[in-house]
Amino acid sequence: VKRIGGNNFCIFDPKQKQNILHKIELENIIHQSIDNKEFEVWYQPQINAKTREVYGVECLLRWQHPQHGFVSPELFIPIAERNGLIKELGEFVLTTACHQLRQWQINDIFTGMMAINVSPRQFDRDNLVGLLRKTLAEAAVPAHCIEIEVTESIFAKEDNFHISILEEIRNLGAKIAIDDFGTGYSSLARLKQLPIDNLKIDKSFIDHITSSDKDLSIVNALCLLSRSFNIDIIAEGVEHQQQANLLQQLGCHNHQGYLYGKPMPAKAFEQWLINFSL
Ligand code: C2E
Ligand code: CA
Ligand code: CA
Ligand code: CA
Repeated sequence: VKRIGGNNFCIFDPKQKQNILHKIELENIIHQSIDNKEFEVWYQPQINAKTREVYGVECLLRWQHPQHGFVSPELFIPIAERNGLIKELGEFVLTTACHQLRQWQINDIFTGMMAINVSPRQFDRDNLVGLLRKTLAEAAVPAHCIEIEVTESIFAKEDNFHISILEEIRNLGAKIAIDDFGTGYSSLARLKQLPIDNLKIDKSFIDHITSSDKDLSIVNALCLLSRSFNIDIIAEGVEHQQQANLLQQLGCHNHQGYLYGKPMPAKAFEQWLINFSL
């Protein structure tokens, strides 16, 4: 074991040196950043385009590093998933989100749903259901206000371990959404057996919905499917009014995207809510 400098150690192996060093450094950085409170939860509105009701918000993690600046979750989430730090980040998001929702409920600012992303790695090792139950109780937030977003990869495993956890979450009263739907592996036959309340159509299908007949028919098929399975559906990444109009024609009224609002800090979301309802 060699000392590299600071608190960084490296088990010397010429082939792997780079890798290990990289991992340990980032792990340290993420650790320190949690302690330094560099992480924040931002909120993006979810809208019923028919009624103009803001029925939900999605919680999105933000990392503002003092030297490196804003670091994208697309970059640090996969690293945190590999080194296990996703557990701490996930707890931070869950706690922050639930306490924020409680504050909004008390002050009658926002009383809708809060959607929280959960990584498959949080299913593997932690007592996710216990954590959820405890956090909801501490924050005094009813479970039915919470929606847990998982990606289809959660169903990749042959055994039903992950599915049984989803069922427990649902038994608490929380809802389950499948994120990025259509980009993963889950077969439609499997879908009907899964404990799911909401399908989130991936942005990649919404992007070209106004120019590509194929994307349009995929989205249409998903709308029909959700209706016959009695599952809610929401379109992600709605940026233009034409997309919103087309989605409404297909019967998909729940929208999330820059057309309505970007992810924003809690205070900015409060201001956004006031302006949106004017
Ligand atoms: P996601 O869960 O699919 O989140 C949606 C992403 O699309 C967000 O990116 C959001 O800012 C972005 N987005 C929403 N509407 C639009 C739009 O109209 N146009 C465009 N161009 N983008 C839009 P973000 O916040 O960078 O997050 C990226 C991914 O990082 C998320 O994808 C999610 O997989 C992951 N992530 C973020 N926060 C968390 C978290 O707290 N826990 C976990 N496990 N993953 C998270
Ligand atoms: Ca999501
Ligand atoms: Ca998504
Ligand atoms: Ca995504």
